[in-house]
Amino acid sequence: MIKKRIMAPGPTEVPPEVLAAGGMPILHHRTPEFRAIFAEVSEKIKYVFQTSQPVLTLAAGGTGGMEAIVVNLSAPGEKVLVISAGVFGERWAKIAEGLERKVVRISVPYGKAVTTDEIKKAIDANPDAVLLCGTLSETSTGVEHPIQEIAAITKASRTLFAVDAISGLAACKLKMDEWSIDAVVSGTQKGLMMPPGLALIALSERAWVAVKAKKSPKFYWSFESALAKLTEEKLPDTPWTPNVSLVRQLQASLLLIHAEGIENIWARHELLAKATQAAMQALGLTLFAEHPSVSVTSVQSPEGIDSGDIVKKMRAEWGISIVGGQGSMLGKIFRIGHLGYCDRTDVLMTVAALECVLSELGVPITTGEGVKAAQSIFLKS
Ligand code: PMP
Repeated sequence: MIKKRIMAPGPTEVPPEVLAAGGMPILHHRTPEFRAIFAEVSEKIKYVFQTSQPVLTLAAGGTGGMEAIVVNLSAPGEKVLVISAGVFGERWAKIAEGLERKVVRISVPYGKAVTTDEIKKAIDANPDAVLLCGTLSETSTGVEHPIQEIAAITKASRTLFAVDAISGLAACKLKMDEWSIDAVVSGTQKGLMMPPGLALIALSERAWVAVKAKKSPKFYWSFESALAKLTEEKLPDTPWTPNVSLVRQLQASLLLIHAEGIENIWARHELLAKATQAAMQALGLTLFAEHPSVSVTSVQSPEGIDSGDIVKKMRAEWGISIVGGQGSMLGKIFRIGHLGYCDRTDVLMTVAALECVLSELGVPITTGEGVKAAQSIFLKS
């Protein structure tokens, strides 16, 4: 028997309380009972975004939420800047191009973080850009981008700054209001410790002004429709049928998040990341990311080894789902997710199993060295 465990950067494992909430009977979404839950969730999620602005809940995956941002904050033919530093940065570009926006890429080599100089240059060269799209934690490379510093630049410009925090929310430090970010989108299957299926979006005051002024075609994605239902009725509501079970699960997950505290959640992720990074380095492996994210550790595959073989053995023989590289990084890196419902024991277990897998693949490591390095980080904490 092999137990299945997820150590991927999403979907992540789901705590029993949250799983149980998903098994509750379906409520009709127009009942006072459901709307009271939606009201609670819509209020409590603001803390996770660190915003006082309304947070919209859309029945969509993360990509749907990204598309909704482009639809609402820009119009066809308008210029959109995109930080393209990995598969998910590039996804912004593809969405915007698909929606006939004029895309200008700020291309960053995979594994590196964008610099503030690159952002300044792009903003100065494109004063007509209505939107800059970036990624908090670029899941494909394992890089965390300097969101606070970028927002300080966009704040002083007319370009709105939208952040994909799909794998970053409730893991990486993020203070939407304090940092002056204009739009944040997240999904449920990562730091929020839930199944996939909801996109959560918050906008700054100036972004709401832009939404109301923008004449771009939309219907299902209309933020104005969502806001009207969220704020104009006696109890919050949604324009279309919401994902009722996921909203109930979000209620359960927010109870856990509020009990732990967002600062403690950020600190836990930092600790898990530090231990994972130390373990990889103690095994003589090279980290792929120059500015590693606290939600995922990306590691270069050892010389002569296809990272896909490591991933397959981890899953087949140890029941642990880690992931390989995407796009141009296919076969070259493997990634360990340590976000959401994840603790120190998960990290120790994963490193120990990985040591066995690497040994069996003939990689010259000393088993135990990685575990020892992780233990030492935990013992010091
Ligand atoms: N952005 C990032 C940073 C992600 O990690 C993901 C999911 N891996 C997405 C966007 C896309 O989200 P979804 O798969 O829910 O559409």
